[in-house]
Amino acid sequence: DLGFLWDIVISRSCPPKPIDQLAREVGLLSDEVEMYGKTKAKVQLSVIKRLEGHSDGKYVVVTGITPTPLGEGKSTTTVGLVQAMGAHLNLNAFACVRQPSQGPTFGIKGGAAGGGYSQVIPMEEFNLHLTGDIHAITAANNLVAAAIDARVFHEATQSDKALFSRLVPLSGGQRKFSPIQLNRLKRLGIEKVDPNTLTEEEVTRFVRLDIDPESITWQRVMDTNDRFLRKLTIGQSSTEKGFTRTTQFDISVASEIMAVLALTSSLEDMRSRLARMVVATSRSGKPITTEDLGVSGALTVLMRDAIKPNLMQTLEGTPVFVHAGPFANIAHGNSSILADKIALKLVGPDGFVVTEAGFGADIGMEKFFNIKCRYSGLRPHVVVLVATVRALKMHGGGPTVRNRTWVRSPLGVCGNLELLEKGCCNLRKQVQNAMAFGVPVVVAVNAFKTDTDAELDLVCRLAKSAGAFDAVHCSHWAKGGAGAVALGQAVQKAAEAPSDFKFLYDVELPIVDKIRIIAQKIYGADDVELLPEAQHKVELYTKQGFGNLPICMAKTHLSLSHDSEKKGVPTGFILPIRDIRASVGAGFLYPLVGTMSTMPGLPTRPCFYDIDLDPETEQVDGLF
Ligand code: ADP
Repeated sequence: DLGFLWDIVISRSCPPKPIDQLAREVGLLSDEVEMYGKTKAKVQLSVIKRLEGHSDGKYVVVTGITPTPLGEGKSTTTVGLVQAMGAHLNLNAFACVRQPSQGPTFGIKGGAAGGGYSQVIPMEEFNLHLTGDIHAITAANNLVAAAIDARVFHEATQSDKALFSRLVPLSGGQRKFSPIQLNRLKRLGIEKVDPNTLTEEEVTRFVRLDIDPESITWQRVMDTNDRFLRKLTIGQSSTEKGFTRTTQFDISVASEIMAVLALTSSLEDMRSRLARMVVATSRSGKPITTEDLGVSGALTVLMRDAIKPNLMQTLEGTPVFVHAGPFANIAHGNSSILADKIALKLVGPDGFVVTEAGFGADIGMEKFFNIKCRYSGLRPHVVVLVATVRALKMHGGGPTVRNRTWVRSPLGVCGNLELLEKGCCNLRKQVQNAMAFGVPVVVAVNAFKTDTDAELDLVCRLAKSAGAFDAVHCSHWAKGGAGAVALGQAVQKAAEAPSDFKFLYDVELPIVDKIRIIAQKIYGADDVELLPEAQHKVELYTKQGFGNLPICMAKTHLSLSHDSEKKGVPTGFILPIRDIRASVGAGFLYPLVGTMSTMPGLPTRPCFYDIDLDPETEQVDGLF
C-alpha cells in the first residue's frame, strides 16, 4: 500500500545511474558537463551553439485544473509521462521542472519531485540545496537590497563633493570612471570621460540617485517560511543615524532575480536583464535601476553558475533538467527557457520535452504562453491538462481537501458521480482556456487508489466532450512510467495534430486592456475594476515606458476568480486590481488581485517534524 510509503523510501529504492553516464546517453560532451557529486551536473550553455543547426523536438506543457491546496499531480504527471515515453515507448524524452523552494519542503506542501513511482531522484538533493542556485539568487538579491539602503544613507549624509571623491576615488593621483559609471554618464546625457571636466551641476546629477525611500519596491529574501519577517524595521543601530525604514522579507523564489533566471536566453541577456531591474523611483519620478546602483556586473558574477541548467534523472533513469523556480503568482511560475531550449535540441526532432507550468491552467499555462513563449519564441505542440476526481468533486460542491486524510473520508471513497459530473465544469473551462491558444489538449486523469473506474471514465468522457483531443486516466503514481503509457501515446498522436498557436493579447495594447482580456477570456470575469493605487501605477508605468510589457496576474490559484472559496466556474464577478507592480528586468507587469503573501508561514506542525538523518546510514527520512 503506497499510501504508507514515504516518497523518500521509494526514491531511495532505486539507485540512480552515475550522472556522467546519463549525460553521455543524452548526447552531451564531457566538457559540456560540470559534475556536482555523483547524481547532479550542470550543463554549459556552449551546447546551444554546438547544436544550433539541429531540429527541435516536440514541446509539451503540463498544466492542470483548478487544484485543491494539496496539488493534483502536475509534477508527478510530468515525470510519469517522460518515464512512459523514455523507458516504455522508446522515445527520447526530457522533463524540465522547477527547483522547489525549501520553504514549502519544510512547511506544509512538501517537496516537488513528483511522487510515488514517478519522481526525480535523489529527491533529497532535488528538494534541498541542489547545486546552490537558490542560494546564489538569495545572495544576489540581498546585495541589491544592501546597495539601495547604503546608497540612500550615504547620499543623505554626504555633500556632492564628498560623494564624488568616494565614488570616483583617486588612484595613482588620478580619478577614473569605471565602465559602469561611464554607462551611467551616457544615460544622463553627459558624454565625458575625464572626471575633472564635470561641471558642478553634472557632479550633482551623477552622484545623486535621489531615491525616494517610500518608493523602494526591492525586498530582502531568504528561502525559509519565516512569517515574522513579513514586516520589520531596519536601520535601528545608532550607526545608521536614525535612517530606519519599514520593509519585509520575501521567500527567495519570489525574487525578481529568480524570474530573470527563468526567462533569460543567454549570459549576455541575463546581464542586461539584471541591469534593467527597477528597484525604486527617484524623487523626481525616474525609475532607479540596478545599473544605476552600479551592482549589475556583480549580480551577473554571482549568477554565472546558476544560469546553467541542472541535469538529474527520474526513477526510471530518464533525463530531467531542474532549473529555476519562480513564484507562480507575483512571477510566472515556469521553469527556465534555457533548459527547455537545450532539452529540445538534445531529444532531436522525434523526441519530446515535457515542461511544467505552475498552478492551474488559468495562471501557469496562461503565463507560459503569454510570457514564457513570447520571450523564448518556442511554440508548444501539446497541452497536458491534469485533473483528479478529488478536486473535481470539490468543484461540484464537495469539501475542500486540506489534508492528506481526505482520501479516506466517505466523499473520497464512495463513487459520487453526481458531484463529480457537476464539478467537471471546471475541467471544461480549463480545457477551453487551453484551446484558446490553438494547441491540442490531452486530459490526464491522475488516478488515486480510491477512484472508481466509473468515475475515471466519466471524467474522460466529459473532457472529450469539452473539446479535448483525447483524455486518458493514468496510474503513474502507483506504477511509474508503465501507468502512463496510454498518456504517452495520446500525447504522441496529439503532437502530430495541426495546431495554430496564438497569443491571447498584443503586448502593445494599453495595460488595462491586456488585464481585461485575461480576466474575461480566461477567468470568466464580467469586467475588471482598478483601485486607485492600480490606476496610479498604470499612469506611472505608461509614462516610464513599461506599458508594453506582458502581464503576469498575481491571483489565487484556488479559484478561477479572485475568491479562493469560489469553486467550479464562478460567474458574475468583477475582478478587483488592488495594485500593479513591475518586474522590468524579468520583463512583465504584475497586477495584484487581492493581497498576495510573498512570505509563507509555518503551520503548527510543519513537515520538518518528520525529517531526520540516520547518522549510521546518512540517509534522510521523512521528505515527501
Ligand atoms: P502539483 O505539481 O500539481 O502541485 P504534485 O505532483 O506535486 O502536484 O503532487 C502533489 C502531492 O500529491 C505529492 O505529494 C504527490 O506524491 C501526491 N500525489 C500525486 N498524485 C497522486 C496519486 N495518484 N495518488 C496519491 N498521491 C498522489
